[in-house]
Order: sequence, then C-alpha cells, then structure tokens
Amino acid sequence: MPYKFAFDLSRIPRFFFTEIARVSYQKDMHKRVGNSAQRIIKKFKIQEATGLNLSDAVLLIEDLIEMQSRNLVERERFVQAKKKALFLPHCSRKYMDNRCKATFDQNIPSYVCGHCSPDCLVNRAVTIAAKKGYDPYILPGSSCVSKILKAKNYEGVVGVACGEEIRISEEILRDMNVTGQAVPLIKNGCANTVFNIESLIGVLQ
Ligand code: SF4
Ligand code: SF4
Repeated sequence: MPYKFAFDLSRIPRFFFTEIARVSYQKDMHKRVGNSAQRIIKKFKIQEATGLNLSDAVLLIEDLIEMQSRNLVERERFVQAKKKALFLPHCSRKYMDNRCKATFDQNIPSYVCGHCSPDCLVNRAVTIAAKKGYDPYILPGSSCVSKILKAKNYEGVVGVACGEEIRISEEILRDMNVTGQAVPLIKNGCANTVFNIESLIGVLQ
C-alpha cells in the first residue's frame, strides 16, 4: 500500500541521508533523539522542497529513521547470512508500459528483466546484485514476498520499496525468521520511482 502523498527527495543534499543515519544510530544507542524528525525537516527545508504538509513530512522522516535504525540492528546478522535475495519494486523500472521488456513469471512470482535499457535503475540493480551473488526479483507488491520466501530458503533479504511496503515486508520477514536490510525509495508515486543506487550498493556490500 503506498503513502497517501507523493514525495521526491532526490534533489535533497546527500548530507540529509547522513543526518538520518546519525539520528538512527543515536536512536539505536537509546539516546534522546527528541524532535529529530521536525529538526531535520526544518534544517533541510523538506516541506519547501517536497510540498508536503508537516504531518506527512514527519511520517516520512520518522519512517526513514526507523528503517535505518532497523538496518543497524540487523546488520551483523545480515552480513552472516549465506543465501540472499534482492527484492526490487516494479515501480522503479524505466518503463511501466510495453517498452519494458521484462516478462512476468507467475510461478515465482516476479518480473524478469529483459535488460532493454542500460540506464534503467532496476536493470542496474539486478546486474550488480547478481554479480554479488544475490538472487534479484522485481516485485509488483509485498504480497509476493512471503510466496518467494516460502519457496526458497533465503537467510537474508535486501528490500527496496517505499516506507509502507517496507513495513509490511519487515513483518513478513520477522514472522519467517529472515534477516533483512531496507533501501528506501527517495521518490515515490508508484511509477518512475527512484532509489539511490549507491546506497543499495553499500547495503549489498
Ligand atoms: S531494463 Fe529491465 S526493468 Fe528496465 S525497462 Fe528494460 S526490461 Fe524493464
Ligand atoms: S511506491 Fe512502489 S513500492 Fe511503494 S506501493 Fe507504490 S508501487 Fe509499491
């Protein structure tokens, strides 16, 4: 399920994500983070940059902090995991119509990239992940996550998605005792969405 609002953080300075990571680390260390989300919103002029109202901006930033914090908690277990998958969102494909040459395999269920566009984010992620030993999947929604996890015995999963989909997937992973790392979309909207490929490479290690 998507957020009820659209956002685009792709033009926010990179330092914003360092700040999110720093606050997440403090949260993980049980230090007081107080009104960190509101402070970050003000500091990086998130409302001006995205057009979001304050409560939506707070929800978005709090989700990013939570996500990063859980990544920190799970990191060691994730690094130790042997068999790993990468779950990518279908909304980050360069094309959402028949110009996308991916085929959908109902049996998995996942799209399989046809590599039609070298500059497609999903194509780049699939190629990098496969080289690093991950099984990449391109999913139309979080409902596919449990089906894939039931069929394969993955110990670790990297998931790229918007905050709400990541929250749902994290519950599935917890129930199935699979460790995970999340990479958030920095532009949502269910089509032409964007994630940071450098952040993903960092998580894939
Ligand atoms: S590179 Fe792959 S995912 Fe991207 S548009 Fe082409 S077939 Fe679809
Ligand atoms: S933004 Fe992408 S990941 Fe989030 S709900 Fe829409 S299609 Fe799914």
